[in-house]
Amino acid sequence: MFRLRGHHLLCLPGYRGMGYSPEYVANMTRLHQALRQSPNTEIVLVEGPDDLCKKFPNYLPYHCEDTNIYQRDAAILAQLGVAIGEHVAWGELEKAIAQNMIPNDIHTLCHTCSWRSYGVCVEGLEDIRSGKGLYIVE
Ligand code: SF4
Repeated sequence: MFRLRGHHLLCLPGYRGMGYSPEYVANMTRLHQALRQSPNTEIVLVEGPDDLCKKFPNYLPYHCEDTNIYQRDAAILAQLGVAIGEHVAWGELEKAIAQNMIPNDIHTLCHTCSWRSYGVCVEGLEDIRSGKGLYIVE
């Protein structure tokens, strides 16, 4: 079981092994691989910092509790039709993403995110919509 906040449900499909620090990447890769290998893994949807935020490096500007990040979380959960406190299998969340998100949503929901310009989040969303699932990150 992992604890995830709303916007990270869209970051995971776009994950290609990039991140804020080696420790952050190691943690995200472990979580990402677990979900890809076992889509029935239970996710608890949480408000605020989650199992990815906990490895955000303390030497970078902390944004995990910024108001606009909470707003992004809420908008994504609402669009997916799920709510804080729910326990949902990752595979079910992939289905919700496929049914309720289009690639252009990344540009509206995540317009202030610095990772958006890499294009991988749009690609990841396309992969989920086409049934490919999560990208293989070694
Ligand atoms: S643009 Fe940023 S917040 Fe949006 S899915 Fe990508 S990494 Fe996550």
